[in-house]
Amino acid sequence: MGDIPPTSSASQLVTYAMCGRKYYFIYVLGLEPEKKSTALVFGSAVHGALGFWFNEKLAGRVPLVPAAEQVFLADLNAGLAGVSEADTTDLEEQGRALVRLYLKKYGELPVVAVEQEFVLSMHDPETGEVLPRPLRGYFDFVLGDGRVIELKTSSRKWGADVSKHLQLGAYAAASTRPVEVHVLVRRRRDAVVDVMNYNPDGWWHHAAAALERGILARHFAPSPGPMCSTCDFASACSDWKTDGHHRLPVLDARVGT
Ligand code: SF4
Repeated sequence: MGDIPPTSSASQLVTYAMCGRKYYFIYVLGLEPEKKSTALVFGSAVHGALGFWFNEKLAGRVPLVPAAEQVFLADLNAGLAGVSEADTTDLEEQGRALVRLYLKKYGELPVVAVEQEFVLSMHDPETGEVLPRPLRGYFDFVLGDGRVIELKTSSRKWGADVSKHLQLGAYAAASTRPVEVHVLVRRRRDAVVDVMNYNPDGWWHHAAAALERGILARHFAPSPGPMCSTCDFASACSDWKTDGHHRLPVLDARVGT
């Protein structure tokens, strides 16, 4: 049995909320996903290009939009290397269009920090007890007035109500200033950037504490359902074996323990 990570994170809470067993595969056993997520690679490449832009400005240089597009393309193609079925033509065009649009509208934002780390002490709002693992994360952009910008890429527009978004709730809990969400929507014919304000209402601390307690108690129950068909750990899950003592001989061999 492996250890859980010493710090929590928004991604850990989101994964655990989806499926405890998936959490176990990723964060305890350290298994690699069985297939690459094109959407994740795409989002990471867009983040990289926009981060490059603002880091260049912070360094006193004058970045050019084509250079940011090149950063996107390089990251996309590196991330999708070996994914034979990936049709990168559409992704390349959609990503470049998003980078161009975002920089045209928001390229002059007064960004003072990119990927700024934060550490948030977690507590149970009902008992006041401080939980043993702090939550560690990164704000995408911090503006001169303290506002936080969180970037998201999506293939469709978000609904109007994001008040129960577990990841955004973590950023809001860690920030003393409002969190603004910039949703970069990639579409076949055009690109859109939606701006939404995230308004925390206190629910997050209750949800995060309940999830964190489940992780600390090592309750890694599966969540069988429709999303299993697209799960990145479906084979590992099918191989799940026990000998009555929570041992996983098939998975132990896979992770070399
Ligand atoms: S296949 Fe289903 S139950 Fe198994 S880890 Fe994935 S989501 Fe969880």
